[in-house]
Amino acid sequence: MTPFVFHTPPAIVFESRASRRLDEIAVKRLGKTVLFVTDPGLRRLGLCDPAAGALRRAGVEVTIFDEVEADPSLATLMKAVEAGRHARATGVLGFGGGSSLDVAKLAALLLGSGEDLDEAWGVGNAKGPRLPLVLVPTTAGTGSEVTPVSIITVGEEEKRGVSSPLNLPDIAVLDPELTIGLPPAITAATGVDAMVHAIEAYASKSANNNPLSRMLARQALQLLGANIEMAVFDGKNVAARSAMLLGSMLAGQAFANSPVAAIHALAYPIGGTFHVPHGLSNALVLPHVLRFNAPEAAHIYAEIACDAFPRLDRGEGSQAICAAFIEELAALAQRLGMQTRLREVGIGEEHLAKMAADAMKQTRLLVNNPREVSEADALAIYRAAW
Ligand SMILES: [Zn+2]
Repeated sequence: MTPFVFHTPPAIVFESRASRRLDEIAVKRLGKTVLFVTDPGLRRLGLCDPAAGALRRAGVEVTIFDEVEADPSLATLMKAVEAGRHARATGVLGFGGGSSLDVAKLAALLLGSGEDLDEAWGVGNAKGPRLPLVLVPTTAGTGSEVTPVSIITVGEEEKRGVSSPLNLPDIAVLDPELTIGLPPAITAATGVDAMVHAIEAYASKSANNNPLSRMLARQALQLLGANIEMAVFDGKNVAARSAMLLGSMLAGQAFANSPVAAIHALAYPIGGTFHVPHGLSNALVLPHVLRFNAPEAAHIYAEIACDAFPRLDRGEGSQAICAAFIEELAALAQRLGMQTRLREVGIGEEHLAKMAADAMKQTRLLVNNPREVSEADALAIYRAAW
């Protein structure tokens, strides 16, 4: 048996309307003064109110920091830390999409340990201890509530990450009702991102690819594949929203321990330079990277194809199933109304070479890819996707 390590939060609460019961679920852990980290949109929509109200009902003093933007900056993180220091926070609650959760993770770390962030970047460098941390996702996709990674934008467009088990919350609270109002385009992009997490985790060449991650990835693909269209086209369908939130969390647990690869590596230059949302960036290169990987990984993709698309269970060989799987994924993006070509998101052909060079810098991800990717390969994949 190949040795492995598996990290996940000690407690996960999955329950409709759970965010209205944070007094019962989270106050014991967070203490009496909570830094509530979220974004201005959620605040404006009043989505935070029931959650903050539940904390206040338990006598908690709640300081709301609502300045988190997409691709959160170092300045925003430091402002959140300052707000927490000023309030003498005893715990941090992250409430929102991946960005808010990422800021909450590092705010809890810096408030708890007072350590120098410059020494914490990278894998396993954070020292801790951190403040108690509870994460409440409001999108179904990033899986950030169960992953050890926090990504912060430093300077104009450099993304830096802290990966540490300290970034796993004490409690992840998943409340499908919070995702009911997500617009179709965001539901589609974040849902495909979650599917990519499952696919890349399952096929990851990481030495820590493990049976738990593979099991979780398959269950995630079943939930995501069966429900993504319903969630996009009938957003008020609570059963579909619940399945998407659960599926994205399972995919998050999978890739938290069996990391993602070339799809994410090639997506980063698209998101970083052209400010295309993360999920859409992944979707744009997804079929093309899988086609590139197929000579090495067709048998692996064939194992999970029927989880996402049960109609592919036609008793064919792994090459044929893999090819059909890739076609199904491409067709799915189309049915969901997503853009499917790089040229449709404002990328000119002249940008592709620089993007290929940038993608090669994602060595931490590329090493996990089932097939080795050269810069020329990356360029060919971008051309196919253009
Ligand atoms: Zn992703």
